[in-house]
Parts: sequence; C-alpha cells; structure tokens
Amino acid sequence: MIKTMSSKEAMELENKYGAHNYHPLPVVLSRGEGVFVWDIEGKKYYDFLSAYSAVNQGHCHPKIIGALKEQAETLTLTSRAFYSDALGAFQKYATEYFGFEKVLPMNTGAEGVETAIKVCRKWGYEKKGIAADQAKIIVCEQNFHGRTTTIVSFSSDEGARRNFGPLTPGFVKIPYNDIEALKEALKDPNVAGFLVEPIQGEAGVYTPADTYIREAATLCKASNVLFIADEIQTGIARTGSLLAVCGNCSCEGNCERQPATYTKPDILILGKAMSGGAYPVSAVLADDRIMDVLTPGTHGSTFGGNPLACKVAMAALDVVKDEKLAQNARQLGVIFRERMGKFIATTKLVKMVRGKGLLNAILINDTEDSSTAWDICVALKDNGLLAKPTHGNIIRFAPPLVMTEEQLHDCCDIIEKTIREFELKG
Ligand SMILES: *Cc1c(COP(=O)(O)O)cnc(C)c1O
Repeated sequence: MIKTMSSKEAMELENKYGAHNYHPLPVVLSRGEGVFVWDIEGKKYYDFLSAYSAVNQGHCHPKIIGALKEQAETLTLTSRAFYSDALGAFQKYATEYFGFEKVLPMNTGAEGVETAIKVCRKWGYEKKGIAADQAKIIVCEQNFHGRTTTIVSFSSDEGARRNFGPLTPGFVKIPYNDIEALKEALKDPNVAGFLVEPIQGEAGVYTPADTYIREAATLCKASNVLFIADEIQTGIARTGSLLAVCGNCSCEGNCERQPATYTKPDILILGKAMSGGAYPVSAVLADDRIMDVLTPGTHGSTFGGNPLACKVAMAALDVVKDEKLAQNARQLGVIFRERMGKFIATTKLVKMVRGKGLLNAILINDTEDSSTAWDICVALKDNGLLAKPTHGNIIRFAPPLVMTEEQLHDCCDIIEKTIREFELKG
C-alpha cells in the first residue's frame, strides 16, 4: 500500500491525522542506505541531517540491522524485573568503551537528560550535603536538552516553554562559552551540577572556545560540582573524536588514553547514534561515587536496557571503531569547512561556516526571521541534498560519517551550485 502512495498523498495523511508539532521539509522518504535516502517516487538524495546525528553509521547499516534482526527473533523485552543475557554484556562493553565504571541505559535522549538531572540532585543532597529541595543545576542559554516538562523549564526557546507551566524550579541559566559567568554562578553552595553541550547543535552548531570545556570542568571540580556533558548530538564520532569533550586530540577515538587532552565529565549523556538510528537507545555514564546514589526503586524504565537495545547498541558502537568514523569525520570536516570557506568569500548570501568534524553550519546573511535558510533548503532538496534550517537563519550540515571524500566533494558542488542559483534568482 505504501509503495503505491504518492508523496503528495503521504503528506496529506500526516497533515490530516498527525499532531502538527513539526514543520517538515516537503519530501517523503521511503528508503535509506548509507549516506543516501530515496523518496516515494524514487528520487535519490544525500542525507545531510542524519536524523539529527542519530544515523552517524549510515542508514540501515548491515551489521546493525543484522544484530537487530537476530535479537528480534530471540528475545526483545524482559523488563528489569529479571536479568538478561544481553544487558550485562552491553554494560561491560559500554563502560569500557567510554571509560566509566557504571552505565544506566534509557531509551530517548530526553530520558537520559532527566536521569542525569535526578542523579545529580540526589548526589547533591546525599554526597554534597545540600539542604532538602535546595539543589540547583547551572545550564546555558540557547541550550537544547530535550522536550520533557522539566527540560523545557530551563530552555531559552519561548516556543518550547510557553503555556507548558508551571515550570520546574532549580535551574540557573548563564551565557554559553562564558567562563566568568560560570565562576560567578559556582559561588552558590547549593549548586550540584553544570549541564552543558560541548557544541550547541540545535542553537546552530555554536562552537565554544577550544579551552571552554576543559576550563569549565576544572572550575566545577574545584567547587565540588558535577560536570555533566550532554553529548547526545556531539558524541559518538560526530565531531571528529569519539566524544566532543576530547577536543582536538589525535587519539583515534580512544580518548581515555589521552589524559592530557581528554576532559572526563562526571556524568556523560549519550543517545542518538548509540543505535545508529535503528532503535531508541540512550545512556548515562558515571563512576561509582556518583551512580551509587541510585538504589532499587529510585529510578527505572520498562524498555531501558532491553535485549534488543543492548545488541543494537553494541553493533552500532563496533561500527564506529571498525570503520574509524571519528577519523573520517575529522578529515572530511576539514575539507568541508575549507571548501565552504573559499566559496563564502565569493558570495554575499552566506556569512560564515563553523563547526567541528562533520557537525557544521553555515550562517545565512539575512535577518533571523526571514525565510531564506528554509528556501535554500527547499532548493537543496530539489538538487538532491537534504538539510534543515536550525535556529534563525542557519543551516546545519551533518551527513552520515560513512561518507567518502568523493561524495563530500559532490555534496559541496550541490551546495555551492544551489546557493549560486539562489543568489542569481535574487
Ligand atoms: C536530540 C537531543 C536531545 C534529546 O534527545 P531525544 O532523543 O530527542 O529525546 C537532548 N540533547 C541534545 C544535545 C540533543 O541533540
């Protein structure tokens, strides 16, 4: 039935029967493989969003789908009322992979953030000695951490907050990439944690000073405050290292072996590419001194850590190492920014390119509320490349990390040609 439906009909169905909480680009996808997706009519596109960096390993990676199929026919869900033969194996694998003593698996990114907030608060009361209900967590302006009631309570995005109150208290907002503001906020003895994205993806791939993350972590440590890194979008090779908190180290993805450049967060939150887009898997990692505040009955999830998720996640993380995706992202990212930089010098329509690895964005030279970025994305779609505007007039470019150099050049050609055409049209 799906095959005989036109794109127009498919869009009408979503518009008629679905809640209108998204504004998708007018393209209806029905198949994906590697860096490509196809619409119903069979037109092929480069995917330059990768489902917000969930598909770092490429669409329908055979190793990941193989693990999914095999486990789906064996055992899918036990709940945590019982042990499973997959969960412990995954927990050993994930803790060794990322260099932590404990892991707590959840499903969506927002659940991971909620889990980190709960662990941080409980640690604040039980280990730091903060008085009941007084704990605060420092967050940054323009953050994006998900969509639950508590998380939107500390969003700067009016659309995400308005009419969803009463909002959850206990969060202090400071400017991003501002060490002095953090120093000031850390003076409050009731602060239990600092929750931050190493690069603000949704805000428009806002990339802080190279020293920001390390300095922030050092300040937190001095104040006995937990440094919580939300790497749901930046993590798992996207920015050219296994984690963005690795910075520019040359550790080939084994960040824990490079203590000089690696900032180890007290709590690390992962999601998205944990499963290569095959299944919702998120995880919170911390050492025993923090994670042991959770005891039976204090936190849980019916699906969190299910056997299917565990097997898919191990396969997805294997692919990242086997195919050296961090190295590829780092190398291709340099080429991409170099080409865009040269191109930008020749056009008035684009102001700058920024980012790290294959998490990049171009800033359109127009007012924030103009539709230029959207219109360029529609034109890019017509030319065979899918990207989506993010906050204001910014276009994020985040292809799957399995891309080849030749494909990347092909994509740069499409982007340059499209913007050039757009400029001529006026
Ligand atoms: C996507 C994202 C989330 C939320 O993840 P969901 O799976 O959509 O709940 C949280 N933080 C960051 C940085 C993200 O990019």
